[in-house]
Amino acid sequence: MNNKTIAAVSTAKASAGISVIRVSGDGAIDISDKIFKSKSGTKLSDMKGYTCALGDVYTGGERIDECIATVFREPHSYTGENVVELSCHGGVYVTAAVLRAVLDAGAQPAQAGEFTKRAFLNGKLDLIEAEAVMDIISSRSKASARAALEIKDGALSERIDGIKAVLLDKAAHLNAWADYPEEDIPEISSEELISALTKAGKELDDIIKSYDNGRILKDGIDTVLAGKPNVGKSTLMNLLAGFDKSIVTSVAGTTRDIVEESVALDDIVLNLSDTAGIRTTGDEIESIGVEKARAKLETAALILCVFDSSKELSDDDMEIIDSAADAPSIAIINKTDLPSKLDEEKLKDKFKEIVRMSAKNSDGVRELIEAIKRVYAVSDLDSNLTLIYNERQRSLTINARNCVHEAIEALNIGMTFDAITVSIEEAIAYLCELTGERVTDEVVDRVFHNFCVGK
Ligand code: GDP
Repeated sequence: MNNKTIAAVSTAKASAGISVIRVSGDGAIDISDKIFKSKSGTKLSDMKGYTCALGDVYTGGERIDECIATVFREPHSYTGENVVELSCHGGVYVTAAVLRAVLDAGAQPAQAGEFTKRAFLNGKLDLIEAEAVMDIISSRSKASARAALEIKDGALSERIDGIKAVLLDKAAHLNAWADYPEEDIPEISSEELISALTKAGKELDDIIKSYDNGRILKDGIDTVLAGKPNVGKSTLMNLLAGFDKSIVTSVAGTTRDIVEESVALDDIVLNLSDTAGIRTTGDEIESIGVEKARAKLETAALILCVFDSSKELSDDDMEIIDSAADAPSIAIINKTDLPSKLDEEKLKDKFKEIVRMSAKNSDGVRELIEAIKRVYAVSDLDSNLTLIYNERQRSLTINARNCVHEAIEALNIGMTFDAITVSIEEAIAYLCELTGERVTDEVVDRVFHNFCVGK
């Protein structure tokens, strides 16, 4: 354990109501006592954990700010160490001055993610739970935040631990049987082993599958709004984003560049690109926009093809339909408030989902959300919140699953129990790396490298 006392600003670096300067380590309370004087005269070192005091922070005899100091005593703190949190006024200058005072009094500046890293090293969180802390912070939708919180509280770790316990049990049995033949340990049957391993493999498969849902929740779906000029793409974008970002205009072809916006719709985040309307054009600047739009279409994870209900389908519309053929796509028939001229039958062959909307009147958003959920099969997100969120977790889970499959394969072709034990133990090692029970410093450093200072 590293006992040097560290400090950092744990709130955002911007003017705000309050800022919190977090101090953690053996010396956290004594160091804070050097700069903080409570109004009541009580020293922080005489205070119990989970108590706070109103007072002032001083540097060189000069008062910097009025603060509330909260004392946490090890091991009952976020990091598991002594912690003092100084809540001062959230001015950028004042916050920096309070941090400076703490550092001058003997604390070291905290590295990125160091508080959470200490929590991990002190056994307050496993590695999966620590990663979830970062995911809570970066969550942009309700479902994503809720899933990350569940994982922080151990939902995924418990599942992994359950699988690991089964594998450990089988490996221990096989080892005991091989190592102590004179002990009369009952031989485990192949059927029993295969059944247990198949169940473990299936559980790991389910967890691996959850990665796609995790990505959707966390990173959002890269979505392109495609459609001819004037069909109402910008209006729809603004409706979804909830505020005006791109220019809404009735002159054709004025959205010349790509406007991007992340919008949270219920459980899903769409990273929306409102592209220049695709159409054949002589205008040079507009044609650059059209090219960009085409490139976007090729990489999109979801294409919302917008059509004008009050117009018949044109060749340009047909071209858009063709360009959307390879990606999951939804047809949006917009302007349903106007008399209809569009032949919906022509769209039915091309799109599984057709949504009728009036972006102008804010009609149809709910239907659109439901259609997106059907396309992405995210309707069951609520019931499956123990998701894997990152590549590290995914690849370790896949490796563990592959080892379990190897063990099953070995059993099926009648290999010795030795060979099977090796595969099971390898699977266990991957799961231990996943939760951080057995992990190199390098991996730990890499995980926390992605955190920000103060976390
Ligand atoms: P874009 O070129 O596809 O981005 O289209 P805009 O969003 O700029 O809209 C073009 C015109 O259609 C504007 O005058 C909008 O007010 C109008 N418009 C957009 N959506 C609707 C709708 O649902 N109903 C009607 N009647 N007009 C709409």
